[in-house]
Amino acid sequence: MMESPSRRDVLRIGAYLAAGMGLGRGTARVFAEGLQKLLDKQEKILWLHGMSCSGCSVSFLNADQPGPVEILTEIVSLVYHPTISSATGDVAVGVVERTVKSGDYFLVFEGSVPLDMPEACLMQGRPIADSLTGILANAKAIIAAGTCAAFGGIPSAQGNPTGGDSIKAFMDRNRIPTKNRLINCPGCPVHPQSLLGTAAYVIAKGLPKLDANLLTPNMFYGHSVHDECPKFHYWEKRVFAKHFGDEGCLFKLGCLGPLSHGSCPGRQWNGGVNWCVRAGAPCVSCTSEGFAKRKDLPFYRKGEAHHAVAYSERDRQGA
Ligand code: SF4
Ligand code: SF4
Repeated sequence: MMESPSRRDVLRIGAYLAAGMGLGRGTARVFAEGLQKLLDKQEKILWLHGMSCSGCSVSFLNADQPGPVEILTEIVSLVYHPTISSATGDVAVGVVERTVKSGDYFLVFEGSVPLDMPEACLMQGRPIADSLTGILANAKAIIAAGTCAAFGGIPSAQGNPTGGDSIKAFMDRNRIPTKNRLINCPGCPVHPQSLLGTAAYVIAKGLPKLDANLLTPNMFYGHSVHDECPKFHYWEKRVFAKHFGDEGCLFKLGCLGPLSHGSCPGRQWNGGVNWCVRAGAPCVSCTSEGFAKRKDLPFYRKGEAHHAVAYSERDRQGA
């Protein structure tokens, strides 16, 4: 059995989360404070799924600092998680109900909510929407984990009869206050460090500074992928790759980096091993509000002429 992380370990993890984003020591200490509260079981996280593929859970459990075992056994006092909790049936229902009644929890919600077809997503044998109103209203803060929860994502693709939409849409429809309570952490999947860092910050200090429209924490989503891309110098010189594997910016091969906000170029994925553009693939804007919604989303367009996104250098500077 592994030992509990020491105070030094927690400070190291806080520093790692902050350093990956170029954040200062003050923020690192805030992250460490939040993690310590989770470690001491002073604060609890209830994690629930709507319409999702569980990819954000998998991504979270692939975090490298702290690793999955530390997350599960020590750091995150998850009172319930549909995929990894051993509790099932009445026991699981009891845990969720007691937690919600206590009002002493932070909610992480993964997946979207079927606004037009409640029976498309069940919890405890009933439409999730039946229970969700109370769960959202009682939570101390809500983190929408991944693009499905934050903006609707793939389950809200045009033509889906379920009417899948974001947690914010559900809260607005049911008049549940979102101000100073809801934080969106998009990504398909969400980057584990953005999620853990946001949760730690919220637990320690309350909500971080958010984008006024998207409700995304600026510390993790303040820059576009394009602005920090190592191929940006090619963009400036208008050197565009015409075929995969060519030298140059991938814009004319469909890259939507200008429309995506996140930290992929700096922190990369899988413990800093690689990320989409460095692997030679265009960014498909998985953190953006419009991701996967329109039928004509140009995941991989053949050329700029097929690209519905008009984006210029002027837009970039304005952004
Ligand atoms: S368009 Fe894509 S490849 Fe080109 S600089 Fe922007 S993010 Fe990088
Ligand atoms: S580079 Fe783009 S598509 Fe890839 S993970 Fe980052 S935001 Fe998503």
